Amino acid sequence: MITEIITIGDELITGHTVDTNAALIARYLTDLGFSVRYRTSVGDSLETMEEAFRLALKRARLVITTGGLGPTDDDITRKAIVRLFRRNLIFHQDLLDDIRARFKRRGIEMPAINQNQALVPQGASLFPNKYGSAVGICIAEEGRIFISLPGVPNEAEQILVDEVIPYLRGLQVNKVVKTIKLRTTGIFESKLAELIGHEMKLESGVKLAYLPSYGGVDLRVMATGEDRQEATDKAQRLVRHLEESCGRYIYGREDDTLEGVIGQLLIDNDKTLAVAESCTGGKLGELITSVSGASGYFLGGIIAYANEVKEKQLGVENEILEKHGAVSEPCAVAMAVGCRGLLNADYALSITGVAGPSGGTEEKPVGTTFIGLASAHASYARKFDFGARRDSGRARATYAALEMLRREILDIK
Ligand code: ATP
Ligand code: MG
Repeated sequence: MITEIITIGDELITGHTVDTNAALIARYLTDLGFSVRYRTSVGDSLETMEEAFRLALKRARLVITTGGLGPTDDDITRKAIVRLFRRNLIFHQDLLDDIRARFKRRGIEMPAINQNQALVPQGASLFPNKYGSAVGICIAEEGRIFISLPGVPNEAEQILVDEVIPYLRGLQVNKVVKTIKLRTTGIFESKLAELIGHEMKLESGVKLAYLPSYGGVDLRVMATGEDRQEATDKAQRLVRHLEESCGRYIYGREDDTLEGVIGQLLIDNDKTLAVAESCTGGKLGELITSVSGASGYFLGGIIAYANEVKEKQLGVENEILEKHGAVSEPCAVAMAVGCRGLLNADYALSITGVAGPSGGTEEKPVGTTFIGLASAHASYARKFDFGARRDSGRARATYAALEMLRREILDIK
């Protein structure tokens, strides 16, 4: 594993202090089998630090820094870390209690500025410090590990030996990795995390990543094991848990697409589909026809942008448009029902919404969208809020429409 060590402090680059930390860490890591390829020193400047961290993360998979974790104004490593990783600093009460207790044991009241040391980048794990108040910080992200230790040499060494080295040994660097991607839609990332269990303890060597996009949130399971069988078994155990906790939102795996899954469902059930689109202007039809073989189930659609077209082509009653407006539940239902009849389809989907950026009202702010569905058995519409951005709102509406159809066909309530 290619490794870079970065030592931080003006006194190091000016030569007033000899950099012993880098040498010490390099020795330990080399003995562990890590390939220390770069050693860098930077002063106490946010810009330089960020630049050095960024470069290191590009060329090394393990980065260890020392220095700048203290409470004073020149200790800004934390700041550089959160800027680089785009995370927030989170206050940890238990850390503050520890620091207070440490001062108390020495018979000193804790100076207020030490509170800074209870701020930790979001999602980081911590390595306790036996000799001082600055804990070690560890962020593992996208196959990269970033560890920050305090600058005081005996503190750096203690954390390295007692915490970092056992952690690195446990990483099983040269193991087999099995990844499985589950694709979900129709649910927010945070809600998904809640269903799965925020504080769920993952087996060692197993990781779960949330990857959101307009179309939904992918869940990436990554498991490492001694061999393929072990890695696969571990991954499968987590996948089973995910299927149990949020299976209704999972539409596919790996390269499956929602439009492809819908196509297959329609083929399997020998059904046809038509669409009536207002605010998406054809995006839904475009997405459906991006699947090769769509002609086997997709009949076509009406882009009913103007009310006149909704009325004349789709048969939406003038009274509905007058009374409820084009962006309304009754209109979405009438669009779907009209479209289904006009094109003689088994299913019809309709989309009508305020795409913005203008045109929003108090009652129907930009993003308000109704999606309608009509089948031989039922016709209904659901209301959504896809946010104020025109491009993302329209994209999200097309996926939401397909997801409504998936749930209808599979009878997911
Ligand atoms: P603390 O939380 O204890 O204040 P810190 O992370 O803020 O630690 P610094 O303030 O950067 O660390 O450094 C603390 C002391 O350790 C200074 O006297 C500094 O000269 C020394 N030191 C820092 N880095 C190194 C290094 N790479 N090699 C040797 N000594 C170092
Ligand atoms: Mg310093």
